[in-house]
This record gives sequence, C-alpha cells and structure tokens, in this order.
Amino acid sequence: MTHDLFPPDAVPRRVGGGFVWAEGPVWWPAGGVFVFSDVRANRTHTFDPASGALAVQLDPSGHRNGHALDAQGRLIACSHGERALLRREPDGDWTVLASGFEGRRLNSPNDVALHPDGSLWFSDPDYGLVKPQEGYGGERELPGCWVFRLSPGGDLSAPIRDRDRPNGLAFLDEHTLLLADTGDGATHRYRVTGETAHLEGEHFRVQPGKTDGLRVAEGRIWSSAGDGVHVLSPGGEELARIPVPETVSNLAFGGPQGNLLLITASTGVYLLETHTRGR
Ligand code: MG
Repeated sequence: MTHDLFPPDAVPRRVGGGFVWAEGPVWWPAGGVFVFSDVRANRTHTFDPASGALAVQLDPSGHRNGHALDAQGRLIACSHGERALLRREPDGDWTVLASGFEGRRLNSPNDVALHPDGSLWFSDPDYGLVKPQEGYGGERELPGCWVFRLSPGGDLSAPIRDRDRPNGLAFLDEHTLLLADTGDGATHRYRVTGETAHLEGEHFRVQPGKTDGLRVAEGRIWSSAGDGVHVLSPGGEELARIPVPETVSNLAFGGPQGNLLLITASTGVYLLETHTRGR
C-alpha cells in the first residue's frame, strides 16, 4: 500500500502512560494542548506537544469520555458520571448543555461530533451505567441507546434510535454521518438532512478489534482498532495501518499545524507526526 498520509516507517511515540482507559482526545486551541480522558480513573488530562508536558485537568472528572470543539471553538465534553453533555466557558466554568430527554435522564454520553451547521451530535450508550468502573451507576431511564442532536439554538432531538451501543461518530461530509456501534462491531453510514438521519448501511468493519472512536481528515477515515489505527478511503477501503502495541480507543488531530495525531490506547497515549492536516 503506497500513500502519503504519514512517513512510511513512522512509529507512534509513547508520550504518556499509567492510565487505566485513555479515551476521548481533542485538540484544544485555546489551551494549546490536547485534552483527553482517563474514563475509568475518573480524570482528564492535558498534553502539550511543544513541551511534552502532561498535566491533570480535572480530578475527579465525572468519568468524562469524548470531547469535541463547538462552532465557537469551546471545549465540549461527554460525562458518563453526570450523564450530560457539557461546555467549558471562557472563565473555566462548565455549563450543562443536555442531561435529559422528554423527562428522562440520559444514559452516559460517550462521544460527540460537530456538524457543519453548528449542531452537536452525541452518542448515549449505557456503559457508564452498566460498567461500574466507568461511571456512578444508576438506572437506565431511556428505552434505548440513541444518538442525540443538539441544535445551535439548544433544542435536543434523537435522530438515531436503531443502534445497539452507538459510540464514536464523525461526519464524512455534511450529509453523511459515520457511526461506530460497539454493540455489533460495525461502523454504519447515515444520510443526514437537517434534524433527521436515515440508515444507508454498514460502511466498514476493522479487524482485529472494533471501531470505538474515529475521525475524518482530508476526506479519509481514521479509525481506532485492536492493533492500532486504520486509515480508510471515503468508501471504506483500507489504505494504511499505524501499528500501536495496545488497543486503541480513539484519536484526534491537533498541534499548531494540525498534523499531529494523538492516539489514546488503553494505558498509554501515543503521538505521530503525519502528512495529513486533520483540522
Ligand atoms: Mg467511545
């Protein structure tokens, strides 16, 4: 396989370790750092690629998981423990954006993606309820594990209700959502129009392992997998693999040039300089 996605013999550098379950990375331009979660240790951390410094951001973190930036560049976090989607304000306070739907509490928001129209789409499997190490437990109130859409005006709807354990999600383009289901192990493609999303079919499966988090960069799909990161064409054909010695949960592009790939992988976080600009 020839490609120019990253140097052919590149090996991701382990830049941090000692985590229990590293997940949910994002580049946070306002801080000049990556933010990521250690979901099970109940902490979030920052990583500064310029200095190599790691720091604790929040302890406890409310078992936060996935992160994204909103249309204004503010940090958005999924919290298993608070069963909520949260936003960091410029003064450092956190605002609850969504914690319930039609009078019922959310399960445990897992991962979140920004649509070009400014809406935030987030998955709500029940891992924070059923896995004692990933949340504070509690009863499931909603009848399923859905994907929600929070409009720029703050209206919450649930466009996707046909999945088992919806998890990582990314927009391939404004009309195409890729949604990883860690229940059936496949990543599915939805046609998005406004507030609605219609299943078009299974888009790809990684092997070994399954997709948890994924990102789209320069039109290609970068997916977590059991043996590292798999890079796929828009149509789902494998283009390249980045081997990582631990199970990968998620990844994010960042750095001043947008070409640094931060990989969260079980107990470690890894950094790879790519030829791709991911943001
Ligand atoms: Mg996830």
